[in-house]
Amino acid sequence: MSTPGLALNGGAPAISTPTPAWPVYDQTDADALVEVLNSGRWGSTAGDVVQTFEAEFAAHQDSKYGFALNNGTLALAAALRAGGVGIGDEVIVPPYTFIATAAAALFVGAVPVFADVDPTTHLLDPEAAKAAITERTKAIIPVHLAGAIADMDAFAALGREHDLLIVEDSAQATGAAWKGTAVGSLAGIGTFSFQSSKNLTAGEGGAVTTNDEELANALYAMINVGRVRGGGWYEHTIVGWNLRMTEFQGALLRTQLGRLDAQQKERDVNAVLLDELLADVEGVTPDATDERWTSHGRHLYMMRFPAFEGNAELRDAALKALHAEGLAGASSGYVPLHRNEAVVRDAKAIADRLGQPYPEPQCPVTDELCRDTIWLPQSWLLGNEETTRSVAAAITKVVTSIDDLR
Ligand SMILES: *Cc1c(COP(=O)(O)O)cnc(C)c1O
Repeated sequence: MSTPGLALNGGAPAISTPTPAWPVYDQTDADALVEVLNSGRWGSTAGDVVQTFEAEFAAHQDSKYGFALNNGTLALAAALRAGGVGIGDEVIVPPYTFIATAAAALFVGAVPVFADVDPTTHLLDPEAAKAAITERTKAIIPVHLAGAIADMDAFAALGREHDLLIVEDSAQATGAAWKGTAVGSLAGIGTFSFQSSKNLTAGEGGAVTTNDEELANALYAMINVGRVRGGGWYEHTIVGWNLRMTEFQGALLRTQLGRLDAQQKERDVNAVLLDELLADVEGVTPDATDERWTSHGRHLYMMRFPAFEGNAELRDAALKALHAEGLAGASSGYVPLHRNEAVVRDAKAIADRLGQPYPEPQCPVTDELCRDTIWLPQSWLLGNEETTRSVAAAITKVVTSIDDLR
């Protein structure tokens, strides 16, 4: 028996408007790019556009120091190396995140150790992280997933008590603030991504922020082939990568940064409305909020569906139904990173070589989340009220027709 209402079964789709456009740009962006082109100064060692962006971005994130670089993945690796994390050190990471969070540890010869997440927010659980600390632990990477913010009071305290580097993976949280202070400035180092899907984008790109001068100097060196800030061209006092971005990226990021706050407000209004519209719908639970999040980055709209009863196949059927309703880009989200064979193989290889234990990671909450989560990309929060109401209608329709999808 099928409900004719579902678009999958020939009913009218709940959403008749296309996904709101992303990225957003106009002649201002084109002019900025052409200006760099005509200047002939295409690299940041020749021009000053990236440097200007760095100052603007650092200020936007309430940070004393900010450096731009080529992507968010290597921002994490640079942060770890700048903070002194190296061979055999353990780095605590959540398993519900993009692979880069764990891969960054492996890139510097360190061992990613997984600690489970909170079932209501998908964020790294400070208690689980605390329980994973050993005498080899050197860093924790709380991820501000979806634009929500990990418990930075707890993580900053863990960092102080156990002398650990805290790296805020803020790839999804540009503009988010914890009790009034922007992410990236709340502990040791913050890392950001400007990849195509992110709320601030130049196609690719990244940044690191800190309030600590020593860490700032080390970050600069990691990005600039080990050079000394203010030093000579061939003065390399440590071994560093070349992770610089181009002036073209810097120019685009400056114009895009000018739009960010207004876009974030729009997304926030729509997300709050979506929360309201879904609050009484049985079978779907949008992620919890936290009053300490004085500004939510609104990168993803995350929901769990008790209606799936932990059945990932039913989740996948519902996802197809949502796509048919017009909700393009809705995603079943991450797969458990603590079960990723490549990551676990590399982690074990390092631990084995050094004679360190690497117990099979146990993260039951993440396993559960990966069976019943669906998220929407940020662009769905950039529509008007009618778009948001039709998004809620699509979700409601699918979740109330769940028995037709079994
Ligand atoms: C996007 C992302 C990254 C990596 O950024 P890239 O710029 O794509 O390399 C790292 N961590 C998280 C949580 C991300 O979402």
